[in-house]
Amino acid sequence: MTPPRFSQPAGRPRPGAGAWLARLALAALLLSAAGVALRLATEWARAGAVKEIAAQARSAGQLNAALLRNNLDKFRTLPFVLARDEALRATLRNPQPAQILTLDEKLDALSRGVSASAIYVLDHTGYAIAASNWREPATFAGVDYQFRPYFKNAATHGYAEHFALGTVSHEAGLYLARRVDDARGAMLGVVVLKVDFRALEADWRQSSAPIFVTDEHGIVLLGSNPAWRFSVLEPLPPDLARGLRASLQFGDAPFLALPFSPLLRPESAAQLVNTHAPLPPHISVGAPLLHTTVPITESPDWTLHLLTPVESAVNRATANAQLGVLLALAVLGTASGIAVYRRHLHRTRASEQAAIQRQLTAQVEERTAQLRETNERLVAEMDERQRATAQLHTMQDELVQASKLALLGQISAGVAHEINQPVAAIRAYADNAREFLARRDMATASENLEAIASLTERIGNITGELRAFSRKAGDSLEPTSLNQTLEGALLLVGPRARRQNVALPRPLERDFLVQAHPLRLEQVLVNLLQNALEAMENRPSGRIGLAVREDQNAVRLYVGDDGPGLTAEARGRLFIPFLTTKPEGLGLGLVISRDIAAEFSGELRAAEPGEPLPAGLPGGAVFVLTLRKAQSGAAGSNGA
Ligand code: ADP
Repeated sequence: MTPPRFSQPAGRPRPGAGAWLARLALAALLLSAAGVALRLATEWARAGAVKEIAAQARSAGQLNAALLRNNLDKFRTLPFVLARDEALRATLRNPQPAQILTLDEKLDALSRGVSASAIYVLDHTGYAIAASNWREPATFAGVDYQFRPYFKNAATHGYAEHFALGTVSHEAGLYLARRVDDARGAMLGVVVLKVDFRALEADWRQSSAPIFVTDEHGIVLLGSNPAWRFSVLEPLPPDLARGLRASLQFGDAPFLALPFSPLLRPESAAQLVNTHAPLPPHISVGAPLLHTTVPITESPDWTLHLLTPVESAVNRATANAQLGVLLALAVLGTASGIAVYRRHLHRTRASEQAAIQRQLTAQVEERTAQLRETNERLVAEMDERQRATAQLHTMQDELVQASKLALLGQISAGVAHEINQPVAAIRAYADNAREFLARRDMATASENLEAIASLTERIGNITGELRAFSRKAGDSLEPTSLNQTLEGALLLVGPRARRQNVALPRPLERDFLVQAHPLRLEQVLVNLLQNALEAMENRPSGRIGLAVREDQNAVRLYVGDDGPGLTAEARGRLFIPFLTTKPEGLGLGLVISRDIAAEFSGELRAAEPGEPLPAGLPGGAVFVLTLRKAQSGAAGSNGA
């Protein structure tokens, strides 16, 4: 049988327009969800980065503010000490050229020592009598500073601080002024120390984040970018601007707003702004900056501003976050891809298996149909065979019957002859009886009539046997008396035996019940006896002998005659149909007899030469009929 071959299952039906739309919608939904996730992550990262930068900026601002405060405190002590210097007071009381020179040199040395921009001493009118820069052409010595607010304030309050553009040096700086009094408290003059922040500003310029300091009006005093000096956080009220210009505190500064949008707030923890102008060293136009403020001192009211570039840090953070989100999406996408693929695989496998199942079912159905057909054919053949067997049976029956009729034909000649004699005797007895009746010899007439009755009975016996023999036998086996059957057969062949002068055996001493059909068994026996008689046909006399042997289940009946016996060749042809040595023979008797014996589960055969035989059998042919004992068959000993 060829192994079943499975064709590939047909692909799944293509999705319709609705399914495509649903897929598109799902894809769009997923994409927008991914977009939202990306955006949220970016915002979150940006906020985180800004927060971190703000914290850093605040620390840096606090550090710078502390540095500045310390610096200022250092400078503030000097005017205080100088105001109590006796030599300085003496010079102010009596400003002689020699003392002034000494004071000049002293101030110069001090100024260099503390890195002050300048230190100078004003008399009580505001006129500078001595200055640290006395050697320079643009010395402050000899200049009248009466109009300067720090002189007026120091004269009034004892101490003043004032940030302004220098009138002589045109250098901005913080002026620290302290009044010098004599022992009685009368004002002798004012000591002024000017601090410039050029070194600090140079330091600040090294930093990447622009940094500057504003005063209480939001005016830039100092910072990393010199261009921003005297710019403002937001435009000043016109009155204030006018007043400041008139005071010349910041020269003729136009107080332009710093180039940021939105405007910088005076106080800010973390304000994101963009610059309008490129800033040194690397900040380009539009760059986002984080504006952070830290208060420096309350008096003067100064504030430190830091502008930290956030772009690269924010970009880094957002890029990292985006990368993270993209990685997560990729992992998610891969996982869902795998899941979808596995589902697809599963479906494909399921549909393949369904197809295989269908194919198998079809094959099974086809095979079942074939088997059913074969079965029907076999049943038909069996029916046919049964019919044929039945026909054969009928034919066999008919053959048996035909053979029996042939046998009947053979024996009936003898029987007819046998009957003629008693019929003639009856006639004579009847004539005699009539005669004796006429003579009124009733006794003799009665004897003759009895003889007639006896003869009639004899005739009746044989004709009855003949009639019975000619009947068609039934099918069923029954316990059959071997002796009774034998008697019937002997009766039938009796007339011929007597004619041939053949001595017939007497029935067996002991009867056996055998498994047979009485009429058929009789047919077999008649056939055997008839054959024996025929074998002795041309002899003046002869004898038929019977012997029986039994074992546990079977009885063997030996039928022997005085005939010529069987040659080896004759033995070979015995059971071949239609082979006969007799002119009117059919050659069927033995064949049919053997079949009948087989029907009884018995056997018919010719005795083999040299086979040990029971004693008392004549010397011609011997046939052995083996029959099965009937269940209730009597046990017995050998008989003959
Ligand atoms: P038929 O009697 O019609 O010939 P049978 O089958 O009865 O058919 O016998 C077949 C042949 O077997 C006989 O023709 C005969 O030659 C031989 N045969 C049968 N019985 C004997 C016997 N007792 N002795 C010798 N030959 C026999």
